Amino acid sequence: MSDKFQAVVIGGGPGGYVCAIRLAQLGLKTACIESRGSLGGTCLNVGCIPSKNLLNLSENYHKAQNFSKLGIEVGEVKLNLQKMMKNKEKAVTVLTKGVEFLFKKNKVAYFKGTGSFKSADKISILDDQKKETIIETEKTVISTGSVAVSLPGIEFDEKIIVSSTGALTLQSVPKKMVVVGGGYIGLEMGSVWSRLGAEVHVVEFLDHITPGMDREIASEFMKILKKQGINFHMQTKVEGITKNTNGASVSTSDKDGKKLNFDCDVVLISVGRKPNTNNLNLEAIGVELDEKKRIITNKSFQTNVSNVYAIGDVIDGPMLAHKAEDEGIAVAENIAGQSGHVNYDIIPGVVYTTPEVASIGKTEEQLKEANTKYKIGKFSFMANSRAKAIDEAEGFVKILADEKTDKILGAHLIGPHAGELIGEIGVAMEFGASAEDIARTCHAHPTFSEAVKEAALSVDKRAIHS
Ligand code: FAD
Repeated sequence: MSDKFQAVVIGGGPGGYVCAIRLAQLGLKTACIESRGSLGGTCLNVGCIPSKNLLNLSENYHKAQNFSKLGIEVGEVKLNLQKMMKNKEKAVTVLTKGVEFLFKKNKVAYFKGTGSFKSADKISILDDQKKETIIETEKTVISTGSVAVSLPGIEFDEKIIVSSTGALTLQSVPKKMVVVGGGYIGLEMGSVWSRLGAEVHVVEFLDHITPGMDREIASEFMKILKKQGINFHMQTKVEGITKNTNGASVSTSDKDGKKLNFDCDVVLISVGRKPNTNNLNLEAIGVELDEKKRIITNKSFQTNVSNVYAIGDVIDGPMLAHKAEDEGIAVAENIAGQSGHVNYDIIPGVVYTTPEVASIGKTEEQLKEANTKYKIGKFSFMANSRAKAIDEAEGFVKILADEKTDKILGAHLIGPHAGELIGEIGVAMEFGASAEDIARTCHAHPTFSEAVKEAALSVDKRAIHS
């Protein structure tokens, strides 16, 4: 006789595992199926966590090389990449095991294997020995995430032509690395290998990096990365990649048709990700997909099959871990008869380079397009005492507020700890705050967050330190 559950979650990433825990907290008998062999999905295993670990370690390595300028005399600074990678793996293991512990604590049944639909209320689980287990369920949440896409006709070998997954496990520092695509994943991984000694070239089809980001911030970001030694080839298209004995040759042409070839040891292709919908046997139950093969859901995350739901990277919206997590909580609450929801207008996006870049709400371009009248408040970290004190004064805070009501419509930051500073603005926006509300809130001195307050003051042209 097969096990019966009130809810089954397919996929144990940030969307799926959070959803399973919340379902169990709400009293439902819950199972979660994960094929990877460890919980935490892309984010914990091959995404957010290992990339942030390497960003931190490579930044420390880079800083340590310059310690003597600051009066800290150390011996020769040497890179031990194997040890660095071990440290990264440890961070991943600690966190993925932590999720397993949370499953036990919350009594979520964890099935290792690939889940697929036999019918809308029967799920097959095929383990790595090809042994099949069938479980019954009242409701199913699909949270199978996404995988990296390559360029047409080019396959990842994860050694020379790599996706972000291969870029997180290189065995040696490439002399020269080409990054195809100037989005946040390419720039984060490019920064890691550049700091560790690689000559990095970013090839981008558009005339700006980080598409979708406020343009003023994006151009400041590119300026800073250039100063750090990253090379950019904008409005340039990759026409082919061929492997050779030394690595690969990337052929490109720019907007004027000028051809340029890059010989390099490693090519990172970071041109996007596609939803993981092909191993679920969705055809068996008739779940509808859109033109990008994402699962179509209504506002309650319900698919066209009434007891099947979907969340995270596998549906529409920004492919971000916190978006997936919030959807996981919302769908669990909906399944339990509550009214969970996600406010898609206030989802932060952070790039964890140095300096960090963070964004929330509308960009200036979006406000112009919507004909919304707005005011801008800006404040440079050059005038922030904490940033000056520690010599990390690059970047600025930009707050966009409604011209009439002063309500905050968006905020865009580039500077130290921007990813942490954006949290304050997110909370303010969730409460419908005005720029004046932030301007009148006492911020500790000396902190980076004073730059947020000053930018809010600057919305009405009354910043003190600029
Ligand atoms: P996933 O995390 O992809 O999890 C889905 C899981 O489902 C996977 O583990 C997969 O093995 C499993 N699965 C698939 N099919 C089946 C099946 N049939 N049966 C059982 N299991 C299955 N986001 C951020 O917010 N911040 C960051 O800093 C950040 N950095 C990133 C860095 C990199 C290099 C990458 C690649 C991504 C990064 N992301 C970041 C994005 C983030 O990882 C994803 O948005 C997030 O993991 C999506 O969560 P999810 O639960 O929807 O899917």
